[in-house]
Amino acid sequence: MTHDAAVLKAREIASRVLAPSAGQNDTAGQFSTDAVESLGESGLLGLLLPVDLGGSGSGPRTFAAVTATLAEADASVAMVYLMHILGTATILAARPSAARAITPILQEIGAGRHLSTLAFSEAGSRSHFWVPMSRAQRNGKSVRISAKKSWVTSAGHAQSYVVSALSPEGAGPTDSTLYLLTAETRGLSVAGPWDGLGLRANASAPIALDDCQVPSDFQLTDDGAGFPAMLNVVLPLFSLGTAAVALGLCRAAVAATASHLKSARFEHLGQSLGESLPTLRAQLAAMQIDADGLSARIDDLIEHLEEPCETTMLRVLETKAAAGEVAISVTSVAMRVCGGAAFSKHLSIERLFRDAHAGAVMAPTGDVLRELIGKSLLGLPLF
Ligand SMILES: Cc1cc2nc3c(=O)[nH]c(=O)nc-3n(C[C@H](O)[C@H](O)[C@H](O)COP(=O)(O)OP(=O)(O)OC[C@H]3O[C@@H](n4cnc5c(N)ncnc54)[C@H](O)[C@@H]3O)c2cc1C
Repeated sequence: MTHDAAVLKAREIASRVLAPSAGQNDTAGQFSTDAVESLGESGLLGLLLPVDLGGSGSGPRTFAAVTATLAEADASVAMVYLMHILGTATILAARPSAARAITPILQEIGAGRHLSTLAFSEAGSRSHFWVPMSRAQRNGKSVRISAKKSWVTSAGHAQSYVVSALSPEGAGPTDSTLYLLTAETRGLSVAGPWDGLGLRANASAPIALDDCQVPSDFQLTDDGAGFPAMLNVVLPLFSLGTAAVALGLCRAAVAATASHLKSARFEHLGQSLGESLPTLRAQLAAMQIDADGLSARIDDLIEHLEEPCETTMLRVLETKAAAGEVAISVTSVAMRVCGGAAFSKHLSIERLFRDAHAGAVMAPTGDVLRELIGKSLLGLPLF
């Protein structure tokens, strides 16, 4: 699938499946299985997989464009898609000894029949996902894992979960290992509801792992190699993907604000809001400038990921930090510009505003990223 074909498919799904139900799913906190089915049928679930596994062999540029397009219509679905792509990338990067067990799963993803996700964050270490509290216990050739995973996007809907735990013999707090648990694993259960402020339709519920047995074939990284995989495989794509979700939200906010300024009227003046008030036009312009600035930042990160150099990790950290702030700022301006109509939920803007607040609190949070960037500029150890 070419870049243009993938974006066209994302646009078609966004307008046919996502846009008509985004508001309703947000209100009900309803996960969209229709959206996941459509993404599977279109081939977009296997976007980054190689062609011999049924994928499209696409890269970060296409992934960002597809994710932003989905987010413009429904950021909840875009986040489900992003977490799936991260899960898939981690499974694909698995150590060679896991190949026989995981190849059928990757083929199912390539065929569009398998949704994956990440289960890193734990109740005990909160947003510091790089320090799992759970520890895998050796049990012959397999391990047993008990853990309280506090937020797992697509919980109860995914067919597999990429799970972190401290390695059985790991000595340090970041000596973790990544494992793949299928949804049928005995002891794995959704441990509570998801009722967030935003991204309400993405089922980011807690998951309990109660003495789950994981065969060695489903150990994705070597013992203790979970943390490097989080940093090198997951983080770059997560930063790009959350920035793409933020961009989709900003674009949707600009479009919805422009539409309101054109259609809402001061009847006593015989003018639309946009015709009447230069201050509203100026704020709309500022939103557009910020959205395009974020788009340029995303392009810059894509170039860094396509041709990595010594500044790539800095750009990875900067892009997620900046995107979280831009999304909050642009949707906040949209709320103010659209006044009572936005505040009383007559427009989609308040959903965009709520959804935009997720990016900055998803780990690594904006605060943690700024802390890491500051440390790196001063040559201090990051962890
Ligand atoms: C919609 C949504 C979906 C999610 N999906 C997933 C998922 O699929 N998989 C998954 O593993 N997790 C997921 N998460 C969890 C997420 O990544 C974070 O772990 C979680 O949001 C952290 O919340 P907390 O209350 O535990 O934060 P806390 O750790 O309690 O943070 C509280 C505040 O302290 C700040 N802070 C923390 N540490 C530092 C520091 N070192 N320096 C400066 N400030 C700091 C934070 O920025 C924050 O403002 C999801 C979260 C959300 C909201």
